[in-house]
Amino acid sequence: MTTTPFPSTTVGILGGGQLARMLALAGAPLGLRFLVMDTVGDACAGQCAPLLVGDYTDENALAEFAGKIDVATFDFENVPAQSAEWLAGKVPVYPNPRALAIAQDRFAEKSLFRALEIPVGEFAVVNSREELDAAVAKIGLPCIMKTRRLGYDGKGQFRIKTQADVDTAWQALGAQADKVGLIVEAFIPFQREVSVVAVRGRDGEFRAWPLTENWHVDGVLSASLAPSREDVGLAMTAQAYAQRLADALDYVGVFALEMFVRDGALLANEMAPRVHNSGHWTIEGAETSQFENHLRAVLGLPLGSTHMRGSACMLNWIGELPARNAVLEEAAGHWHDYGKPPRAGRKVGHATLRADSEAELAEALQRVGAALGREAQVAPVIERLS
Ligand code: AMP
Repeated sequence: MTTTPFPSTTVGILGGGQLARMLALAGAPLGLRFLVMDTVGDACAGQCAPLLVGDYTDENALAEFAGKIDVATFDFENVPAQSAEWLAGKVPVYPNPRALAIAQDRFAEKSLFRALEIPVGEFAVVNSREELDAAVAKIGLPCIMKTRRLGYDGKGQFRIKTQADVDTAWQALGAQADKVGLIVEAFIPFQREVSVVAVRGRDGEFRAWPLTENWHVDGVLSASLAPSREDVGLAMTAQAYAQRLADALDYVGVFALEMFVRDGALLANEMAPRVHNSGHWTIEGAETSQFENHLRAVLGLPLGSTHMRGSACMLNWIGELPARNAVLEEAAGHWHDYGKPPRAGRKVGHATLRADSEAELAEALQRVGAALGREAQVAPVIERLS
């Protein structure tokens, strides 16, 4: 008689946002239980799994969390690396704290890309106003100053277009130099943005979903299309970079490698050490979703196929949800409400449209965009599909 390797396993998730929520939803058919830890009591994953409220730096809270779970993972990559290390002394933690620490720091991450010969734009660390001047002189204009740590969705960034912007940039972000560090990057005049969402198992097995093309508005993901319309060679190169990175970090779980496409070549932007917004389409668009495969990976279970049928487009709902019926009326339209109160700039839900052909997907996007008054959001995807 064979027994399941993890009878009534409880997966602990640090961070209780929509990613934890979708992990809990994906884990239910596998018979998994969850405990989510967040700093706030109304974290939206708490609607789908028990929630422990506590500070990630509070050892008592972490000890209580560790005592109730079999394995820990993340919905939020900015959990302090020391907390992840501490937890790893009590329970298995995937991805490992070193991978998390590198992915938390734009300088460490870009330095690793370079060491692994994954192409990356020019960058320099900035600790003072003098170093900012030197970095701008070396990298040239335009460029972008970003916080090394704790930046996400375009937050903690300042675009430096002219020499006059250097002062303003320092006024805006200079105080962060001592707190979270700063980095200056060359501005990449990219044609497109793509991401590889991939999974690596405990045994090193690697699988990637088809390359995804992404559109951002004000630094926040607005739409994703899979498979991207890049040529096969570029998609294979992107996946090879992702595998090189995952192997180097001995990474376990799902991650995303975000890249720019410029003149037919790839330049890495950043890595997200967790399930990723540009992989939400996999819930209905792929044989196995990123959420299920992340759980399979952290539990040492066989990984599922990342194969997809047809094409899929994910539309993010930022700030507030539109009316859902236009999506529900589609033959393959799927609605995800994260259960969050509306707030400007907040990711409150998404929709995924799937179709057997790109032409049908474009038609579905046209209908949904018009019905919801979201023509501008769907337009670049429709144009790309035409
Ligand atoms: P990030 O937080 O680094 O993912 O940046 C958010 C978005 O800002 C990216 O998805 C790009 O659209 C844009 N962006 C960030 N860095 C650069 C860069 N070096 N050059 C051009 N655009 C950038």
